[in-house]
Amino acid sequence: MPEPIKMPPYLTNIAGVPIPKIVEELGTPAFVYDEARILAQLDDLKIFDVVRYAQKACSSLAILQILRKSGIAVDAVSAAEIRRALKVGYRPKPEEEGGIHEIVYTADIFDREALELCVSNGIHVNCGSIDMIHQLGKALVAREGVEFPVEITLRVNPGFGHGHSQKTNTGGTLSKHGIWHEQLDEALSVAGRYGILVSGLHIHIGSGTDFEHLSKCCDAMKFFALNIGSTIRTISAGGGLPTVYKEGDSYVDLQKYYELWNAMREELEAQFLHEVTLEIEPGRYVVAESGYLIAEVRAVKNQDENRFYLLDAGFNNLARPTLYGSYHPMSICPEDGVVPESEPELEDIIVGGPLCESGDIFTQEEGGFVVSRKLPRAWNGDFLVIGCAGAYGFVMGSNYNSKLYAPEALLRDGKIYCIRKRQTFEQLIENEIMLD
Ligand SMILES: *Cc1c(COP(=O)(O)O)cnc(C)c1O
Repeated sequence: MPEPIKMPPYLTNIAGVPIPKIVEELGTPAFVYDEARILAQLDDLKIFDVVRYAQKACSSLAILQILRKSGIAVDAVSAAEIRRALKVGYRPKPEEEGGIHEIVYTADIFDREALELCVSNGIHVNCGSIDMIHQLGKALVAREGVEFPVEITLRVNPGFGHGHSQKTNTGGTLSKHGIWHEQLDEALSVAGRYGILVSGLHIHIGSGTDFEHLSKCCDAMKFFALNIGSTIRTISAGGGLPTVYKEGDSYVDLQKYYELWNAMREELEAQFLHEVTLEIEPGRYVVAESGYLIAEVRAVKNQDENRFYLLDAGFNNLARPTLYGSYHPMSICPEDGVVPESEPELEDIIVGGPLCESGDIFTQEEGGFVVSRKLPRAWNGDFLVIGCAGAYGFVMGSNYNSKLYAPEALLRDGKIYCIRKRQTFEQLIENEIMLD
């Protein structure tokens, strides 16, 4: 199990690289990722037969390259995510019978482009709705040269869910995700009509769940798999492995989690008389802790007892605090990278961004309640570093207020490798058309 990320009051370097040097190269705001941390996170996961990275957590091409080289498969939830995977060399389908699907498209709908891409490239589909099976079936039947049966997996809504927030809960009657567990028979019969074989099951009930909830999935999976029978060759435990964002959070015991699933898998193998592949599908667990958002303090405001640090980064860069009230650890790096010798005196600080929007506050709790954070005194020109920003960070960014997308860099062996340049104004307005 990796050590949680430590963000002391003052932080002057990340992965051995001085923060002022990073800023000199990239400017602010900027995302950096510590490659060694990504690789360390993967180590523990490799007990599973297949680790499938949910690329929506951080889908930059250079990150996908690292994962591909490490033997990690990938999950795609949109047409462009499939294309990202193909772009970095993931193969659309296994080269040999029974090989693993390097790319799986998991969604509750096909838009037209995703359907076309899956069918023309033979990408494996994990269907989260019965309509998807119909659409895939029709497209396959209409296409020449398709060899039947075509295999799919089903994402099941087991009837319960859990997540670190209402918005990340992905099971139960109010969740839009997956095929409702009572409709699996119908899904199977629809598939059969088109010559489609259900070869696997997938359950993902939410993000940041604890052991108890994650293991409930395991029981549900066993029940569904035994019901469907021996066509099942893969089972996926989904993602949702928690990340330690703050004191009091905990990782799940991966070994124990694996053993639970493995025991269930062995029961299925004994019933089905063939091997069953066990997949896990983490997003945040792989990349969250590797990522840092570096911003500059641009204004300090004192309002009665409240002191604000206003940064040049906002929810256009990191939306999680605004969306979910998520906690991210923070540190200050003095402008010159030199920490004052005296013991830091911590003050209660509210940290906000530049956007014309009152929700643009990094220190808030679910429901939008503004809170403060103990931080050292900082002045304009100092840097504020937000930790655990690698997952659902850059990818949830926006151009709101016509803010340009931040650059991203990889920190590898003490060196800075830019993996995405800062967006330019020209790129921002590239597709806009002025009328005379
Ligand atoms: C988002 C998602 C994941 C990853 O969730 P994490 O909480 O980042 O691990 C895995 N599988 C599916 C289908 C998802 O939608």
